[in-house]
Amino acid sequence: VIKLTKQRQIVYDVLKNSSTPLNAEMVFNLIPNNSIDLSTIYRSISYLEKNNMILRFHFTGKSFYILNTKSHHHYFVCTNCLTFKPISCILDGTIDHLKEKHKFLVTNHEITIYGLCEKCQH
Ligand SMILES: [Zn+2]
Ligand SMILES: [Zn+2]
Repeated sequence: VIKLTKQRQIVYDVLKNSSTPLNAEMVFNLIPNNSIDLSTIYRSISYLEKNNMILRFHFTGKSFYILNTKSHHHYFVCTNCLTFKPISCILDGTIDHLKEKHKFLVTNHEITIYGLCEKCQH
C-alpha cells in the first residue's frame, strides 16, 4: 500500500509540475518557504522511487528525478539543458528474442540515451 504523507505528496507535486527532471536540492528550492528540510526530501524521494512513482537518472554524479508515467517509453536526455524527450520503445522485439534464448523472466528494462538536443548543438 502506497502511503503518501503530506510531505511526500508535496515532493511528488513539485516533480509533477516540473517539465524537466529535478534533483533533491532543486525540489527543496521549489517548495514554498523551504518548509520541508532536505533530509526529508531525500527520504520522500527514496520512498517515491521505491514505489515506482518516479524514475531516477544520473548526471555528473547526481540523481535527478521525473514522474514515472504509465506508458512505457525511453528518453533522449540533453546533458546540457537537461530536457527530456520521450521516445518510443524500440526494444520490445529484441528483448522478446533474448528472454526466450536465455530463459529469463524479464520484469523491466531501462535505457536512457544521452547527448545534446538540437538547440544545444549550436
Ligand atoms: Zn539541450
Ligand atoms: Zn522499452
